[in-house]
Amino acid sequence: MIFRHLFSYNRQMVEVRQVTDERVTNKIAQAFLRQRFPLSKQGEVLRAYLDEVTHRGDPAALLALRPQLPTVEAPQLHLFAKLRSNRIFESPDDIKNIQVTKGCSHGCDFCAIDAFSRVEAMPYVSVLKIAQSLREAERPRQKAYQEWQARLTLHTGVTLAQFREASVTWANAPLREGTEHFFDKFAELSEVLWEYLQQDPPTFLPVRPAVMGKSGLREDDLLTPHKRSITNYYDSDPFDYRDTTILHQDGTPADYGDVFTALASPFSPIHITTAGWRQNNAVAKRAAQKIAQATQADPALRRQFRLSVNMGELTAKQSLDLYLDSITSAARELFSAGVPHDLNQILLFADQETPNGLEFEKKCLAVLSQEITKNHLPAGIYQCRISRYSGRNREWNGSADHDVMACMPGYHIWPNGSVMYQDSFRDTDGKIKVRRGTRPQPTGDELYRLPRI
Ligand code: SF4
Repeated sequence: MIFRHLFSYNRQMVEVRQVTDERVTNKIAQAFLRQRFPLSKQGEVLRAYLDEVTHRGDPAALLALRPQLPTVEAPQLHLFAKLRSNRIFESPDDIKNIQVTKGCSHGCDFCAIDAFSRVEAMPYVSVLKIAQSLREAERPRQKAYQEWQARLTLHTGVTLAQFREASVTWANAPLREGTEHFFDKFAELSEVLWEYLQQDPPTFLPVRPAVMGKSGLREDDLLTPHKRSITNYYDSDPFDYRDTTILHQDGTPADYGDVFTALASPFSPIHITTAGWRQNNAVAKRAAQKIAQATQADPALRRQFRLSVNMGELTAKQSLDLYLDSITSAARELFSAGVPHDLNQILLFADQETPNGLEFEKKCLAVLSQEITKNHLPAGIYQCRISRYSGRNREWNGSADHDVMACMPGYHIWPNGSVMYQDSFRDTDGKIKVRRGTRPQPTGDELYRLPRI
């Protein structure tokens, strides 16, 4: 009797699994049929056959095709066309922004770029193709960096990973004790570095010589081999990202965590600014968790992470309690990696000239400070003012303000594949600056062309 029950239970389980497999396979197939990134010849053939199978309603044939269908875990890049142009990858240092979304869900009152509310996302396949070209361009540096690390370990007996760990420990004051001996090692590291910098020109800049030494050490300088970083936003928030034209094996869409892990490398660490996400946004939460895991495993993949908190954001205007829940959970999910405090920033804006603003600021400061202390989050809160130079809050008397959108000099790749260029100049101190009022301009280059939707 018991065996008969078990047998029927097992049969039910198998049936449930079959139905689930069919449902998920169907979702993955439909996603491929909606794919906007241009296909290769092989991709076209597969899509035509898939189209026929789905029209015929043949679940067995569809299941048999499943291993060939692209997913985030197995993107099958041979099914997709090559990038139309690789010109910008000849100077990878000039690539500043791989903008994976355009438009923004936060609708902030003061948005300096007046972002559209409709969000357009870069196909995840484009992200992977761009990442491939970036890695190719970084290869000589990667080789030089590996050789340098081997020489460093031979000379000092300490690996770069141990140096990094010591510099992070030093940054967290309570844990400093016992790491002082590392400064002798840093001096040795300086010697190896100096020897390396005699090459003309150095292939990569592992750490800035000016920061070496007990007094001048900036803890984040050892985290990345190169000072350049890339961003994934401009008139947008990267955590709005999702691509429903390529799915995970479980049928969920590609998220910003997938984008981050594909694009980031020690030579292209990523800088993030986000206005957070709602508690019920499972896709954004999962993205933040993937980013935290990836950067814990390799801190060199990241630069600064910033969470923007402001009273003009949509949720903040609807319900302060809901907003506080959202930003505290975003802070927990984003800032969990063990990094120096100044690499994780909460930028807090409130209009202090209004009672509402004062109340908002007081509550946010209290709740966020408590969250930081309770969860030992490595993050600092910075109160800031906003610019009224441009965008929704533009004012005549704001024309003297700093132009926050005059930033990110270099190439910007838009979700639709267009390449823009933000011009810049060197100021009297030799620093690269963007002229006020200027914005990225089209170069005429296109990495790929997407059909209109
Ligand atoms: S999060 Fe940034 S881009 Fe989005 S609406 Fe707010 S200010 Fe604009």
